[in-house]
Amino acid sequence: MSITVWQALEAGAPLVPGTRPRLEPAADELVLEVLHCGLCHSDLSMLDNHWGMSSYPLVPGHEVVGRVVEVGPGVNPALIGELRGLGWICGSCSHCPQCLGGTGNLCASLEATIVGRQGGFASHVTARQDWTIPLPEGMDPAAAGPLFCGGITVFAPLVDEAVSPTAHVAVIGIGGLGHMALQFARAWGCEVTALTTNLAKAEEARGFGAHHVQALDQLGELPGRFDLVINTVNQALPWADVMGSLAPRGRLHQLGAALDPIQVGAFDLIMARRSITGSPTSSPASLLKMVDFCVRHNIRPAVEHLPMDRINEAIARLRQGDVRYRFVLDAI
Ligand SMILES: [Zn+2]
Ligand SMILES: [Zn+2]
Repeated sequence: MSITVWQALEAGAPLVPGTRPRLEPAADELVLEVLHCGLCHSDLSMLDNHWGMSSYPLVPGHEVVGRVVEVGPGVNPALIGELRGLGWICGSCSHCPQCLGGTGNLCASLEATIVGRQGGFASHVTARQDWTIPLPEGMDPAAAGPLFCGGITVFAPLVDEAVSPTAHVAVIGIGGLGHMALQFARAWGCEVTALTTNLAKAEEARGFGAHHVQALDQLGELPGRFDLVINTVNQALPWADVMGSLAPRGRLHQLGAALDPIQVGAFDLIMARRSITGSPTSSPASLLKMVDFCVRHNIRPAVEHLPMDRINEAIARLRQGDVRYRFVLDAI
């Protein structure tokens, strides 16, 4: 029994169907039959070898919802049949201080779902049990995939840093990540501002939970406003205006994978005790908290569905920013 994959044979190439041998789960792994897989901007970066860590043929896809169909010898066979989600990280060492301390996403021996491994644009994918998250009752499997990379990426700055519900939170960029960040921050109890270059999205941003919508180029007119700015944009910003918009002890949390340095003056940090942080997705514990939080607050990614054999159409449209707000490819 072989499996099918959608793979790029070289950098930037379209995905073509292929077959590979049946997957053999390691002792602590399980095999998911892929039902749905979201398309994340990091898939494009990996396809193009933008970060210099891609190997080809490359099978992208790391926002998976699948059914457990097989387990390794160290995994309870009772899990077979469960629906589980899988994101960017598919394994960690389980015995270092980070893993043992509940911050396994900071483990030095991380395995990423599409780095040196076969990802979720496929009929099946393997991952360690600990990094696959059971879908709680009440969660729609067809829309859940984007939670496991984009969603947890923007939930992390709230849950892992214990943001106060009285905080005023700004979200820069109303796209795949930003539209989920608005929902999380609103449900967290915060006052929420969406900052965008495209005010045509203002009504939708309010629908996702923004109390206020502001043009990004007006940021300089909002000094001292925000306790937390979550930046989902991967391009250079007017950093002095971003820092100036932070309240005393306010924090810029960077999630957009910009390659250029963030230029910030020392006095932007010193005078109001401001800070800059970032984070790579989050831990299995925070993933478990996130899915329960989503069900409790009716948070769901806004998705556009296409069948898996139209993956190249989804990639082309994502490259142009033409998606509201996340593509999910469905198994065929
Ligand atoms: Zn570890
Ligand atoms: Zn991703």
